[in-house]
Amino acid sequence: MHTPVKNIPCDHLMYKEIYRFGATALHRCEACGLVFTGNSQAVVAPGAVYDKYYRNETAARFDFGIEYVIRLFRFFRAFKVFTICPCAGSIMDVGSGRGFMLYYLKKYYSYKRAAGIQISRNAVEFSRNELGLEIFDKDLLEIPFKNAQFDVITMWHVLEHLAVPDEYIEKISGLLKERGKLIIEVPNFNSWTRMFTHMHWLSLDLKYHLTFFTPESLTALLKRHGFTVEAFHTFSLEYSVFTSLQSIVSWLTKSDHDFFTWLQGGKFSFRIILHVPLFIILSPVCLLINILLYFSKSGEVILIAAEKKQITVPSPLQCCR
Ligand SMILES: [Zn+2]
Repeated sequence: MHTPVKNIPCDHLMYKEIYRFGATALHRCEACGLVFTGNSQAVVAPGAVYDKYYRNETAARFDFGIEYVIRLFRFFRAFKVFTICPCAGSIMDVGSGRGFMLYYLKKYYSYKRAAGIQISRNAVEFSRNELGLEIFDKDLLEIPFKNAQFDVITMWHVLEHLAVPDEYIEKISGLLKERGKLIIEVPNFNSWTRMFTHMHWLSLDLKYHLTFFTPESLTALLKRHGFTVEAFHTFSLEYSVFTSLQSIVSWLTKSDHDFFTWLQGGKFSFRIILHVPLFIILSPVCLLINILLYFSKSGEVILIAAEKKQITVPSPLQCCR
């Protein structure tokens, strides 16, 4: 049966149901390849869904200890941005979490302006009060920015949370200076584990994820808005191995993501004790497979660095902005 879809992420209106997980169906646009749910609560009331995304006092998503690992990953993320855009002076991170990447870019990599957008109240307060960052607490589409303000705009695991990705990419294109860079990372709907773990794929996360991308559909989206893809790979130290591991363990044991839920402060399940040996045995296998898939189109994430097309003729002396 074809479920009526309330929110279609593109203008094509030609889509078909490709998967059904209980009450939620996934649809694929037959023109541009975007995969989407279209009926999630996160579309209807994003404020209510995301307000508790980060926890109360410290605005941390994970338990003590894991937090330090997360901060290390944010440092690597800042380093990655710096290697892609070493001469940039201004950056905006859409969905900036608690702001650690921006903080590190300012502190260690000479970025003069580091702005973030975040709608989770606790994360906003932490970023402003503890890290002293410039944070906008509205949806990007509602902020009256002047055009051509930023050298770099980043979106780390944000685009899949949006019901209308085209509108955001269009706005971002306006905010970037000419030849500005857009760096996006999202889960890869064509990942090797998604193909067989289906509903157990960790990145499915249907409570929060509204739109899913393949390397082709994300590239097409960026091209529609005047970007040229400059770099692409499908490996993330932070996401790839753990996503593969948890997805395969959940699939083998036909259970929920108990270990991941526990790491996020959820209740401890005795099933986790049974899952630990599987995690240990499968870790090196998943690491090896994900590294081998680095430049393929089948890793767990898609990381794309794209450049906004240049409109005017460059000055011969222009190196960086
Ligand atoms: Zn479409």
